[in-house]
Amino acid sequence: MKFLADCTLGKLTLWLRILGYDTAYSRSTIDRSLLNQGLIEERIVLTRRRDMLKRNYSGMVMILWADRVWDQIEELKKNINLEPSLEILFSRCVNCNTKLHEVSRADIEGRVPSYIFKTHAQFHTCQHCGRIFWPGTHRERMLTAMAEHNLFHHP
Ligand SMILES: [Zn+2]
Repeated sequence: MKFLADCTLGKLTLWLRILGYDTAYSRSTIDRSLLNQGLIEERIVLTRRRDMLKRNYSGMVMILWADRVWDQIEELKKNINLEPSLEILFSRCVNCNTKLHEVSRADIEGRVPSYIFKTHAQFHTCQHCGRIFWPGTHRERMLTAMAEHNLFHHP
């Protein structure tokens, strides 16, 4: 399941990437070229623009009605059977949507703060934007928020 979100859904884009879904993002609002991109790349186009209902389009567009990101994810679970899975969680760069690769500690020595380097065993990098990721407190907070909102519960 791949997505293309328009500028009305920046926060949802972030969370879908955290969940491991291939989610492209556009800084502009939905228009013909964005719809074409969705069609070519076989992505479900996501927007909050309600006037999209009137347009003719052979691809898939989903209009999200909820304001809060957790309710929007709930809409995706209900309407297109999104099933967040722990297996792909944290597998994608939140910054640029690229798949992350595990790297050895030696490779990132000097590229992260030394206390991080000393206290963590596992690191992933994004080969596109160069960001380095490790399981830290921010990840714990995300997991807590996801659990609170029953993200991995599929009725
Ligand atoms: Zn990246």
